[in-house]
Amino acid sequence: MRSSQNDKVKTLRGIAVSPGIIIGKARLVDRSRVKILYQYLVNEQQVSREVDRFKEALQGAKEQIAAIKNKIPEPLRKHAFILETHLLIMDDSMFSNATIQTIQSEKINAEWALKKSVQNIEKLFTQIEDRYIKERIVDVQYVAERILRNLAGREQEDLFEIKERVIIVAHELSPADTSSINISKVMGFITDVGGRTSHAAIMAQSLKIPAVVGLEIVTHHVHDGTLLIVDGQTGDVIIDPDDEEIILYQEKQIQRDKFESGIIRLSHLPAETVDSLRVTVEANIELVEEVVSAKDNGAEGIGLYRTEYHYLRSSNLPKEDELFEDYKEVAEIIAPDPVTIRTLDLGGDRISAGIGLSKETNPALGLRAIRFSLRETDVFKNQLRAILRASAFGNVQLMFPMISGLQELLDARAILEKVMSDLEKEGIDYDRRVRVGVMVEVPSAVTVADILAGHVDFFSIGTNDLIQYALAIDRVNEHVAYMYQPFHPAILRLIRQVVEAAGKAEIKVALCGEMAGDPLCAPILLGLGIKELSMNPARIPIIKKVIRTLSVQECGSDVEKILQLETASRVREFISAKMQPLLNELDQADLIHSNPDRP
Ligand code: PEP
Ligand code: MG
Repeated sequence: MRSSQNDKVKTLRGIAVSPGIIIGKARLVDRSRVKILYQYLVNEQQVSREVDRFKEALQGAKEQIAAIKNKIPEPLRKHAFILETHLLIMDDSMFSNATIQTIQSEKINAEWALKKSVQNIEKLFTQIEDRYIKERIVDVQYVAERILRNLAGREQEDLFEIKERVIIVAHELSPADTSSINISKVMGFITDVGGRTSHAAIMAQSLKIPAVVGLEIVTHHVHDGTLLIVDGQTGDVIIDPDDEEIILYQEKQIQRDKFESGIIRLSHLPAETVDSLRVTVEANIELVEEVVSAKDNGAEGIGLYRTEYHYLRSSNLPKEDELFEDYKEVAEIIAPDPVTIRTLDLGGDRISAGIGLSKETNPALGLRAIRFSLRETDVFKNQLRAILRASAFGNVQLMFPMISGLQELLDARAILEKVMSDLEKEGIDYDRRVRVGVMVEVPSAVTVADILAGHVDFFSIGTNDLIQYALAIDRVNEHVAYMYQPFHPAILRLIRQVVEAAGKAEIKVALCGEMAGDPLCAPILLGLGIKELSMNPARIPIIKKVIRTLSVQECGSDVEKILQLETASRVREFISAKMQPLLNELDQADLIHSNPDRP
């Protein structure tokens, strides 16, 4: 989170998890933990009264959760299982019976006994290795919190009782909270905690309301009724904006709405240049949940399915079946269009607790991606089996990341052959003609692209890493971020070299780095001969719109001139001048600088 204006906090930046601009009054929802003020011993007669108090509070909590579950809005139905889990927790003997027994045996009040039960469960959870299950302790805490509120007679304001149009501001929102959101009243929400894949984030996307999480201290600076501007695209929250800021954002909102509804209407049309070159526009995804939004935005396939999530979320390695189910679902949803599943790209800034990668001095140059897979062959084979099995259910392509030369590719292919023959022996179905490609993202791979091309069905240029390695700029180091230049003549030459090698070998070449979603890069990439782009789903409508205004012939002759330019800034000037009218339109809607796929 970043904040500006030193003395008085005015603008906070959190994690933008669901897009849209909203301007409205804050409604502070108190979800602070109930403090147990009284822990006391009770006498024999009071024991049964405490047991009754607990039972009543428990029953009340069950009824509240059941009511929320019954009223759950349609877009959230698929998440109702979380509330069912909460009901199951309340029926669990470790939770309810244990509390009653503690009241009876230790003769203490209900709140204290409940706290002891939760502490015991927490202790058990600390011994669980699977990080995902371990994190489910929050569900036990949510439930306990609700019962404690009932015991304290403290009203738990249910969000569906909110009567005016507001922006919810909370430290944290539980699944029960987000399930009770009435979108005719709640404009959006912002929270102190949470991340991109938190329940609240996923719920906001399902409800299609703007949300920013991870603001850390927003609840300290906002009161009921404070005016707020929330930008769910950039993660900016402006507290108590002045008239100018309100007007600015109202305009942005109008521009964005107008622009987006215009392009979204057209996003399902093909991306065809004015001189009839058909460009394939696909989506980059990390979670199975993103496929639907990719399709909604007009994706013609998944050009990059990053598969690290299952390995990062848990300290245990994922099971083959778990991966298979996930890949199969993506393949089925996107079929007949293709999904390109990239094998593991762990290492670098993606460190998994379960895999025991040691800290390296230079992680980006260390045991990353295919290097890791070729060392941990069991992990690699497990994933390849899952991908191949999923290939029987759709149009699946397989891709190896960070290939730096032919030997690595041959080694990876040898393991793939072995996995294929194992599956054959076991009589397990897979697509025998599954297409295999490599990410071209290490400069040495560009130099030997002609050699690699003879051994694969396609290339996908990963410019995020290609820029990092070619220009020696750590992509996550803010001190050198200004040198991260997609328009650097070296980068443009590298791309051209890959396209030429692919052309000679008659294999396909796509580009899936962040450059693919940048409107200014589109004419250059088309001019360089790229006909397939894969990007963050949110960028697809804009890029399709840009492509429809271009002539590939003109892009080609512009690129000849661009390749003569000697610095990145001259290239940028050239292309900005060319694209000025379109840029003005995009800029007004603030759509140029808000690419969420920036590395
Ligand atoms: C890339 O390097 O350009 C790419 C798309 O892969 P990632 O960002 O996952 O490294
Ligand atoms: Mg990469």
